[in-house]
Amino acid sequence: MTNILFTNFCIFVTFLYLSGLLSQKYVAGVVSPSFTVKVNAGLLFGVYGIILMYYSFPIDPRFFADLRHLAIMVIATYLGWLPSLIAGMLIALGRLILFGMSASSAIAGAGMLLISVVCGILSRAHWNRLGKMLLMSVSSMLVILFIMWMNIPNHQKVFTVFTQQLIISVLATVVIYMLTEYINTSNKLFLQMKKNSETDYLTSLHNLRQFEQLLSERFLEAQHFSERLGVLVVDIDHFKQINDTYGHAAGDVVLQQLSKVLRDHSRSFDEVSRNGGEEFSVLVPEATIDETAAIAERIRAAVEDHVFILEDRTKIRITVSIGAAVHPDTIRSKNAKELLQQADRELYRAKDSGRNRVCSAPEINDLILS
Ligand code: GH3
Ligand code: MG
Ligand code: MG
Repeated sequence: MTNILFTNFCIFVTFLYLSGLLSQKYVAGVVSPSFTVKVNAGLLFGVYGIILMYYSFPIDPRFFADLRHLAIMVIATYLGWLPSLIAGMLIALGRLILFGMSASSAIAGAGMLLISVVCGILSRAHWNRLGKMLLMSVSSMLVILFIMWMNIPNHQKVFTVFTQQLIISVLATVVIYMLTEYINTSNKLFLQMKKNSETDYLTSLHNLRQFEQLLSERFLEAQHFSERLGVLVVDIDHFKQINDTYGHAAGDVVLQQLSKVLRDHSRSFDEVSRNGGEEFSVLVPEATIDETAAIAERIRAAVEDHVFILEDRTKIRITVSIGAAVHPDTIRSKNAKELLQQADRELYRAKDSGRNRVCSAPEINDLILS
């Protein structure tokens, strides 16, 4: 009995660990999984339940128990009623297919379906997860009590067996809760750290590290599929004066509002980053140099027209200078760095020629003709 209980514990821990790896992108209460993920999770936990059915443990020479209802409980708690029902249906089906069609199989199968419905309903309760799990565990055991009542003629025996199984089930629920919460918290911290390492803390745009990653990825894609990739480098004009006049905190507010203007006036699939200080960039895929320059001009004009409102309600205006380059229209470089350097050179040209303007690198064909 102790051996097989230990085996069940090890199987459950392995299942939870695997599920934790698969669900790294989803954090209960933070990131909602899609319909497909819910269906797949229901199927996976259904398979877990069927495997647990094979590792039944004897509570009495004639009666075997297992932890399959706890697989339904876990998936209902973390992903809701849909995967709970799917897991319940799969386990019920598995019971009928693997152990043959008999009255006791039919009752056990119907019992699993009922457990999945009960767990699905309880998953919607606004309780903490431990409370929900314990209630699901005890409710499932009541359904199992009914199944035993129907299958075992000696009702005195049923109560003894039931009490032992209830104790095992509740203890297992507490251990499972501790494990699943540990996995959920690890996933949450992993997502948070990933986001922090890719995002600029002030503006929530991509940071320099993420920009460099995106630039090299998009550049390789553009080369591979013979597509265009444009880069805009955007720098605020005389930003130091804003800081000197209104203070650093006011400068930060301007940077935050500017990030919104940049996002609103670039295309939905363009990638906007804050590359550092008051310098931003926009990756512009699939546009000619003329189209890229038009997007840059739209952004420049939008910034010029925008009224930036500081925390003390002071209204100020700023302008930006933008440098633009496009692979392969303006540079046939082997690496993304040269494309960025060309856009940078255009930014300096925009600054030198009076600021508040867009300068784009000349098309290579134009160069040849001129
Ligand atoms: P130019 O038109 O030539 O670009 O002039 P500029 O004043 O914008 O450029 P400069 O490089 O001289 O100054 C940039 C300023 O940006 C200096 C620095 O204090 C400020 N800055 C950099 N990072 C931040 C930040 O995170 N917050 C605030 N408020 N200011 C910042
Ligand atoms: Mg500047
Ligand atoms: Mg600058």
